[in-house]
Amino acid sequence: MEPLRAVKGMNDVLPDECAQWQRVEAAFRRASALYGFREVRTPIVEPTRLFVRAVGETTDIVEKEMYSFRHHDEDLTLRPEGTAGAARAYVEHGVHNAEPVTRWYYAGPMFRAEKPQRGRYRQFYQLGAEIYGDPGPGCDAEMIAMLVAFFEAIGVPDMEVLVNSIGSAEARPKFRDALLAFFEPKRAQLSEESQRRLATNPLRILDSKDPRDQAACEGAPQIADVMSDADKAHFDGLRRLLDALGVAHRVDPKLVRGLDYYTRTIFEIKGAKAKLGAGDTLCGGGRYDGMIADLGGPSVPALGFSAGLDRLVIAAEPAGAESVVDAFVAPLGEAALGSALELARELRSRGVATSADTRGASLKSLLRRANTLGARLVLILGEGEMSRGVVTLKDLAGHAQEEVPREGAAAIVADRLAASGAVRRGEPA
Ligand code: ATP
Ligand code: MG
Repeated sequence: MEPLRAVKGMNDVLPDECAQWQRVEAAFRRASALYGFREVRTPIVEPTRLFVRAVGETTDIVEKEMYSFRHHDEDLTLRPEGTAGAARAYVEHGVHNAEPVTRWYYAGPMFRAEKPQRGRYRQFYQLGAEIYGDPGPGCDAEMIAMLVAFFEAIGVPDMEVLVNSIGSAEARPKFRDALLAFFEPKRAQLSEESQRRLATNPLRILDSKDPRDQAACEGAPQIADVMSDADKAHFDGLRRLLDALGVAHRVDPKLVRGLDYYTRTIFEIKGAKAKLGAGDTLCGGGRYDGMIADLGGPSVPALGFSAGLDRLVIAAEPAGAESVVDAFVAPLGEAALGSALELARELRSRGVATSADTRGASLKSLLRRANTLGARLVLILGEGEMSRGVVTLKDLAGHAQEEVPREGAAAIVADRLAASGAVRRGEPA
């Protein structure tokens, strides 16, 4: 049989790399909890029409990136992003009846059929958060501040916060007309795709990565020209609050973002360009005040972001070498195996991550194995130790060695690891 391989654009994350993934996820959960967000878990498969409705018919995602399939009588899609599913759940469970403001976060895999490249995959992972019921701009500023704190905590270098406003739904048709008037005479200079966008969604031309489109966008009208006073006040408020919070940011009038649902505030944070190259957008988000009502829910304003975990793992400061266990139990000879396994169990019940040899090997090779696993302490159980009712305790860091009573060995090891500040695994951080 041909060797089996993972699906193109979908990656295995092996245990060596998982340490870094867990570190980034843990920092995200911590930042979310500090800001009062609670986790929501929604299905990976949703009705296709949810995304068509919420993400927008003329977006890259819906036009060409979705993994959609028919199962019995249902049109289903592997979720390409998290906001639509969370919004569906918010409406379905009538959450607005229970609380005026809701702060949710989520983490999990997303699926988009794009061309795989560094930091761009077909199964990828997003960390995201949503705020429902707060028209802002205070919560917009808090959300951005939380992201900056999270990125700082994991050591993302060269962070850049970009913000813009695309106005509310009323300003959109005016902006569209202004863009059409601007691009129509330049039609021939645009990419084929953007020529098509002239008819479907001219706003998306501003978001194009094609150099021809980017050149044609020089001098294009800006949303600020058609924004209402209320939209302007919202945006000014956001900028003032970001300043008050000390969040350095830059206004990027060309920022439009790829999803149709945004209103008013939109933002992106870039970072670690040296490691990520052009794909250095770590997260994107914005306000989507119309979506909840659009999905048949109440008229509740909302705001959210999603960050690419795959990219954050690359962008973050590398984690130090991870130790797999704190203690290693080394039985020498068959007769000691039972006692060794029992001792390992005692250690684990005291919260000490422990590995016990069950294959049989020389002391020298067992010590080498303990070292590879990153164990601090080795507990040796040979014939002599068994007959005297003791265990030889070897400190791999200090190279000291002593005999301790077999009965109290687990407690001594647990105390010693705690005193030296070694991590006790198996306990929540
Ligand atoms: P782009 O314009 O680069 O395609 P996007 O607008 O499609 O980005 P969003 O839908 O806003 O991206 O997703 C938020 C974040 O998720 C991105 O900033 C990025 O970090 C990450 N992301 C998006 N698509 C992928 C992917 N295919 N692989 C890995 N990460 C991704
Ligand atoms: Mg995309």
